Amino acid sequence: MIRPKDLIKNALTQHENVAISFSGAEDVIIIDIACQLDLKPKIFSLDTGRLHPETYQYIQRVRDHYELEIELISPNGAALTKFVRHNGLFDFYEQGHQACCNIRKIQPLRHYLTNMDAWITGQRRDQSPTRSELLQTEKDKTFSGPNRNLTKYNPLAHWSSEQVWQYIRDNEVPYNTLHDKGYVSIGCEPCTRPIRPGEHERAGRWWWEEETKRECGLHNTDIDTNLIAKAG
Ligand code: SF4
Repeated sequence: MIRPKDLIKNALTQHENVAISFSGAEDVIIIDIACQLDLKPKIFSLDTGRLHPETYQYIQRVRDHYELEIELISPNGAALTKFVRHNGLFDFYEQGHQACCNIRKIQPLRHYLTNMDAWITGQRRDQSPTRSELLQTEKDKTFSGPNRNLTKYNPLAHWSSEQVWQYIRDNEVPYNTLHDKGYVSIGCEPCTRPIRPGEHERAGRWWWEEETKRECGLHNTDIDTNLIAKAG
């Protein structure tokens, strides 16, 4: 296991085109460590158009706190218009979240990562059964191309939620105020709810679906290629 600080330094210095993916508490720790190392990381965040107002305020607070740009990546306008016309705004409660996540997250991310050699995420092994084998450094099987290897770094893969919050408290790192209202893992507003005591931290994400399907596809090794074809 490599210390997060060392891995973040390696990742940010050995690649010409590398960016930190920002959305949650873990991601700000990566930004915080990078800033302590005096590195000026490239940061992006997926703006699905369905985030909580508190999350947009949080993005702005992180920008102000670290005096860094956070590039907001939006869905393709034409594809989204077509999708909403056909599917409406809440079909994920009946049809599952994959198609909406594909338009609002996966395709914009795929487009953004086309110009990247590597990206850094705040994923942790104990967040979900689908992440239990997570490596600190891996080839991104989802977004690498036939002639291009994309590296994905997960410096906090072995951290627990307690370690994350200890770091946030000790270093006065900004966090999303939704955490003070019982939210733990935070995604889009219609697909996230607070959790009850004793529930797993991702129990509030896509709660109407089976536990093994609660990934938006950003970190899957296998994406439904039919969905990608439809979105193209
Ligand atoms: S999390 Fe929900 S609203 Fe957000 S992109 Fe996925 S299905 Fe759509």
